[in-house]
Amino acid sequence: MGTTVVAKRVIAIGFEGSANKIGVGIVSSDGTILSNVRRTYSAPDGSGFLPRETANHHKRVVLDLTEEALREAFDDDNNSNDDDNSNDRKRMTLKELGNCVDLICFTKGPGMGACLIVVALVVRTLSQIWNKPIQTVNHCIAHIEMGRLVTKARNPVVLYASGGNTQVIAYNENKYRIFGETIDIAVGNALDRFARCLELSNDPAPGYNIEQLAKQGKNFVEFPYNCKGMDINVGGILTNAEEKVAAMKKLKEKEMHHDDATASTIENDKDKIIITKADLAMSFQETIFAMLIEVTERAMAHCDANDVLIVGGVGCNLRLQEMMDIMAKERGGKLYATDERYCIDNGAMIAYTGLLEYLANGSVGVPLESTTCTQRFRTDSVYVTWRDDDENEKGDDDDDKKDEDEYYNEDESSRKKRR
Ligand code: MG
Repeated sequence: MGTTVVAKRVIAIGFEGSANKIGVGIVSSDGTILSNVRRTYSAPDGSGFLPRETANHHKRVVLDLTEEALREAFDDDNNSNDDDNSNDRKRMTLKELGNCVDLICFTKGPGMGACLIVVALVVRTLSQIWNKPIQTVNHCIAHIEMGRLVTKARNPVVLYASGGNTQVIAYNENKYRIFGETIDIAVGNALDRFARCLELSNDPAPGYNIEQLAKQGKNFVEFPYNCKGMDINVGGILTNAEEKVAAMKKLKEKEMHHDDATASTIENDKDKIIITKADLAMSFQETIFAMLIEVTERAMAHCDANDVLIVGGVGCNLRLQEMMDIMAKERGGKLYATDERYCIDNGAMIAYTGLLEYLANGSVGVPLESTTCTQRFRTDSVYVTWRDDDENEKGDDDDDKKDEDEYYNEDESSRKKRR
């Protein structure tokens, strides 16, 4: 007998519910994603998602979603297409399904309190029923680790842009350090609110709808550009944008007799061109994204890094990816990005990051009394025990290239469908 130790495959189920998505994902320690299901609470058009309504949504769907994730991952009947002996096979019970996982992970924070509490309560209960350990997870770090897993980026500078967070992050000496961030609201929050101001739908997501409208924009309208050192300020731009829309509406009312009702317009003082909603959407995106690229590039220069990873819900905006790609290429580097399955909040990212932390910390999990949640939980407050500082050295790039090609060859309709 040799002395080789074969590591046991450890399987984690992860629960994410820090904002308007609730996700349950199941991942094994070799990085295989066995299932990753999600429901989104869309607020009525014209308003954002509020804590109580969002938490109630999560309560309604979390148990069905958990069963769905477990069956997709473990139930043979569910996975098999051949009907030959399906009568012989018994549907697994929930108890049996629970026995298939070794660890339960959940988002400790940051996020909306009411929503975090729903998930924490469900996880504590399942842990008692199944007799499995719990690992708590920092939501922001889960985005980063999922991005690294899916894209195979080794040690990139990270832009994390979502509805709740906007940070430029790089790893150094056991911490994900924040190099720059928004000093008021998150970029995704500004995009969502501007989408509502333009009377766009919340379905499938306001940010997605603003991205589509921006594609039709032709004339660039100037917005305030607010980089403050390594940080950015977004609130003032949103206020300015709202003022522009209000002015546009006023003008439209004045011109009610005009035949072309679709052309809701404001006049640009300088050259009297007609400005449309699409122009505003495009210009708003361009301005905010340019700010993000600027601070990200400065962080890359500081860290002497050429590769950049975009994570978070805003990260699936293809225009942001395009702008970042240009900057990275000019530096001789590369953009790593994921699609909405992984860059939007999901359970798999929590399961995977929980597994990394659990295995690195002696496979004991977190004591029940510490399985709490918190609305504020900084990315740089977590001591990262699972990353090897040498790991940014080059590996088997050819295999990675093939995976990436398959990954990026996707069309727009499958993007929209999966939300
Ligand atoms: Mg997020």
